[in-house]
Amino acid sequence: MCAGELAPKLHFHRERLRCGACGFVLYANPAAAAAAIVLRGDEVLMIRRSIEPFRGHWTLPAGYEEVDEPPARTAVRETFEETGVVIAIRGLYDVLYTSDDPRKRAILIAYLADPVGGTLQAGDDAQDARYFRLDALPDDIGFANNRRLLNRLVDDWKSGEFRMVPTLEMP
Ligand SMILES: [Zn+2]
Repeated sequence: MCAGELAPKLHFHRERLRCGACGFVLYANPAAAAAAIVLRGDEVLMIRRSIEPFRGHWTLPAGYEEVDEPPARTAVRETFEETGVVIAIRGLYDVLYTSDDPRKRAILIAYLADPVGGTLQAGDDAQDARYFRLDALPDDIGFANNRRLLNRLVDDWKSGEFRMVPTLEMP
């Protein structure tokens, strides 16, 4: 901010980078990201990543939030950009901490959604986009959180109920 030098200093119970001139403290916070679990009957929509990390692996459509965007809207936008599918959010599914993305740590907010329009076609970070049956998911799923979410999704599917979280934050 003032071009002063940052140095590690104990501040609010942990060491953080602090400016010796103006006192500015650099807090390292996780970014917010949103994912869509798009269900079509017994199938879920996935993309094959064309970029690192996990290039060539299958993931849920997802991405980082823009600063002026509530997370459910991020899920809708990213799904359209990566798959061409227009979705309607059904509800909040889970909130998870992501530690295996080398770009930055993130909070992943995952929504259940239904396809309501558009044309399935891979775009942006995706080299392929398609639906998988929940009993025939791909082996090479990227990100630990995607595997965790999809494991729970399959369990829910087998039990006959997709358990969602009540939330006020919807698009
Ligand atoms: Zn400063």
